[in-house]
Amino acid sequence: MALTFKSGIYINGQWVQPSSKAVLDVTNPATGELLASIPAAGRDEARAAVVAAHKAFKSWSGLNANERAAYLRKANAIFIERAQEIGEIMTLEQGKPIAEAVGEVLWGADYLLWYAEEIRRSNGTIVPSDSLNQRFYLRRRARGVVACITPWNFPNAMLLRKIAPAVAAGNTIVAKPAEETPLSAIKIFEVFHDAGFPAGVLNLVCGEPAPIGDVLLESPEVRQISFTGSTEIGRMLSERGGAQLKKVTVELGGVAPFIVFPDADLDVALNNLMWGKFANQGQSCVAPNRVLIHKDIFDTFTVAAKKRVEELKLGHGIKGGFEVGPMISEEAVVRVNAQLEDAKKKGAKVVAGGQIPSGIDPKRWCAPTIIVDAPKDALVTCHETFGPLVAFEPFTSEAEMIDSVNASESGLGAYLFTKDLAIAHRVSEALEYGMVVINGSSFGYVQTPFGGTKGSGDGREGGQDGLLEYQELQYINMNF
Ligand code: ADP
Repeated sequence: MALTFKSGIYINGQWVQPSSKAVLDVTNPATGELLASIPAAGRDEARAAVVAAHKAFKSWSGLNANERAAYLRKANAIFIERAQEIGEIMTLEQGKPIAEAVGEVLWGADYLLWYAEEIRRSNGTIVPSDSLNQRFYLRRRARGVVACITPWNFPNAMLLRKIAPAVAAGNTIVAKPAEETPLSAIKIFEVFHDAGFPAGVLNLVCGEPAPIGDVLLESPEVRQISFTGSTEIGRMLSERGGAQLKKVTVELGGVAPFIVFPDADLDVALNNLMWGKFANQGQSCVAPNRVLIHKDIFDTFTVAAKKRVEELKLGHGIKGGFEVGPMISEEAVVRVNAQLEDAKKKGAKVVAGGQIPSGIDPKRWCAPTIIVDAPKDALVTCHETFGPLVAFEPFTSEAEMIDSVNASESGLGAYLFTKDLAIAHRVSEALEYGMVVINGSSFGYVQTPFGGTKGSGDGREGGQDGLLEYQELQYINMNF
């Protein structure tokens, strides 16, 4: 099915044809078929987008909070109307099951509504001074042009959870989505256009990343770069952006531990493992990588998990009724399979999955797989898997288990299952992770701050802290 899109470039309120013949070819990961060839941005368009965003900043940041919020509320309502259509496009270009894609559109849209509300409560502070005729006022204000660079795994929500707080705060935007999933970004910008956002407030440049990234880094008008993606690119943007004294926030990967204590409700733990690990084919930075199960319940839990994993159905996400769609690319399949082979070579055993069912393309799908006995130096134990492969390991000592998971270079999300409040308090606070969920499997709520520590980056997205990221503090010393 060929889809037609006007352009992957939206600047100053208009869909733009590029000066070069550059196109982005978008393929369906379930079939390898070409979905669309879209006119793509290069250096010139990236620069034009920055100039447009800079020009729009003064008037946009000059609106009052409720005036800006009205645009976000309008866009939220349009997303709700179009969730099915936008979800279908996402499934076609990204592969995730349609129910997950539509759910993601609604989740992403909710950031618009939440920040439309929150910006109206962006209060300042009056700090007492030592003198009767003096007041210290602290106020939060927009920074300027914000560049949002986002990955393909959640093509809607990753963009909206940056754009919603940034634009609510009064910043203007140049968005550069992943080259694998530009169509979802185009659908987002169609909504913004129809919501009537003033020209220049929101600009989109789909295209080859390096030249666009260079322009965003070199442009002095870009005051902030908000990035979600790989450690390699996050480090490069931090270094080069930092050298320009831009604010750079990076949300990188994780190697999430999923810890099950012997008193846990095993059904609850298992249900959450199935969602946390296998939604989006495991292509999430918080998907459980290592499952650490207390030795007293290890066998029981493993047998129950094996049954559930073997029941998972693989198929084209667009048809519905499937839990596991294709991986984003053939390279992603190769990478996950390499982790499996590495673990097997080092002594790990497959207890569930490991085989692609007949009728499913093994170049495009990974089999949901549980392994045991992977050693500490196996790739699956110490590197992000980003696929439906998971390693189970028993633990005996709580302290040793905590040391082992804290030894990771990253620290994004961790999962803990117990009915004992003392364990919940003690272990969650001991974990060097930006987020800990107890008896659950989700972190990304609009009202909570998503983000990590150590090698997982810094900065928070969502909640009140997610708004502060896009505001700078101004201190006014008043003497009357
Ligand atoms: P992944 O390996 O998951 O694709 P990346 O970090 O490569 O992760 O991609 C995340 C985002 O970073 C994407 O939008 C991608 O296009 C962008 N990106 C990749 N290289 C650069 C670059 N040199 N400059 C700016 N953005 C980049």
